[in-house]
Amino acid sequence: SLEQGPEGPDTPIQVVLRVRPMSAAELRRGEQSALHCSGTRTLQVSPPGGGPDVAFRFGAVLDGARTQEDVFRACGVRRLGELALRGFSCTVFTFGQTGSGKTYTLTGPPPQGEGVPVPPSLAGIMQRTFAWLLDRVQHLGAPVTLQASYLEIYNEQVRDLLSLGAPRPLPVRWDKTRGFYVEQLQLVEFGSLGALMELLEMGLSRRRSSAHTLNQASSRSHALLTLYIGRQTQVPPVDPGEAPVGGKLCFVDLAGSEKVAATGSRGELMLEANSINRSLLALGHCISLLLDPQRKQSHIPFRDSKLTKLLADSLGGRGVTLMVACVSPSAQCLPETLSTLRYASRAQ
Ligand code: ADP
Ligand code: MG
Repeated sequence: SLEQGPEGPDTPIQVVLRVRPMSAAELRRGEQSALHCSGTRTLQVSPPGGGPDVAFRFGAVLDGARTQEDVFRACGVRRLGELALRGFSCTVFTFGQTGSGKTYTLTGPPPQGEGVPVPPSLAGIMQRTFAWLLDRVQHLGAPVTLQASYLEIYNEQVRDLLSLGAPRPLPVRWDKTRGFYVEQLQLVEFGSLGALMELLEMGLSRRRSSAHTLNQASSRSHALLTLYIGRQTQVPPVDPGEAPVGGKLCFVDLAGSEKVAATGSRGELMLEANSINRSLLALGHCISLLLDPQRKQSHIPFRDSKLTKLLADSLGGRGVTLMVACVSPSAQCLPETLSTLRYASRAQ
C-alpha cells in the first residue's frame, strides 16, 4: 500500500496497476487471462504462444478481485489529499486502452438507467476522495475555500464541462504567478459534498452526451476535474518564508492509449503512423525526462500539449502524481496491455 510513506512527496510519480475482471463478453468468447499477480507488487505476463513469463513491478498491483474501496486504499489517495491541503499540486490519472477500466476506477460504472442510483460500494476514487476531503476540511477548524473546475481536452481543444454557455474552446495561458491556466474557465465554489457531487454529475453527463461521444470518439478526450484548496495559513508550513499557495487536487480520466505505441528504450515514445493523440506522447515524454537523473535539470517540454501544460505543476515543482494504469486480463488485449505496462513502467 502507498498509504504509508514519508511526510512529503518522495518520488514525483507513483504507479499502481489495476487489472479489471474479465468482462462478460470476453468470457463468452472464451478468452483466456494472460495476466496473474504474484504478491502485491508484481504482475506476471504469460505470452500466449508459450515462452517464459515476463514480470512487471509497480507500487501496487491490484487484480480483478479487488473492490473499489481496496483500490482507493491501495492508491494512498488520502496522502495526496493531505499534501494538497498543505499546498501541493496533486494529480491522480488513469491510463490504459479504451475499455480497460479507467472511468470505472475514477468515477465508478455509469448509472444503469434514468434515476437508478449507482450503489455507494461502486463509487470510484473521485467520489471517495471528495467524501474524505469534505470530512477532513470540516474537522480542520481553519477556514478553507473550496472550488472546482471540470474540463475536457479533445483534439487539443479545451472545453468547459461546467459552463452553461455555448461550448467553445478556451485558450490555455501562462503567467508567472499562476503558471499555466485556462482562460475563462469556470471555478465553482462548493461548501458541501452534495454540491460537489452535483458538479461531478453535471460534467459526467455532459461528457456522455457531447457530440463527439456520439461519434465514438470519447475515448480520445481527456477529462480533468480539479479541486482548488485555498487556505489562509498552511499547517504545517511547507517552506517557511514562502508565501502560502493554494493546493490542488486534480483527477484525470485520460484518453484511450491504444493509439500510442511505445518503442525502444526509456524516454522514447513514438507516435504510431495513424495516431492523433499528441497529449499522451507529450505526457510520456515529460515524465521520462523528469525521471531521467542525467536530465533532471534540463528543460521539460510541458508546452508540447494542453494536457502537459495543465499537469505541469503536479508533475514538476510542488507536485505529486499518481498514475493508475488499467488493463484487461484477456490474452486478446495483450499487445495493448504490454504497451500500457511499458508506458507505466517507464513512469516510475
Ligand atoms: P475505459 O474508461 O478505460 O474505456 P471503462 O471504465 O468504461 O473503461 O470500463 C469498461 C467496462 O468495463 C465498463 O462497462 C465498466 O463498467 C467495466 N469495468 C471496468 N472495470 C471494472 C471492474 N474493476 N469491475 C467491474 N467492471 C468493470
Ligand atoms: Mg472511459
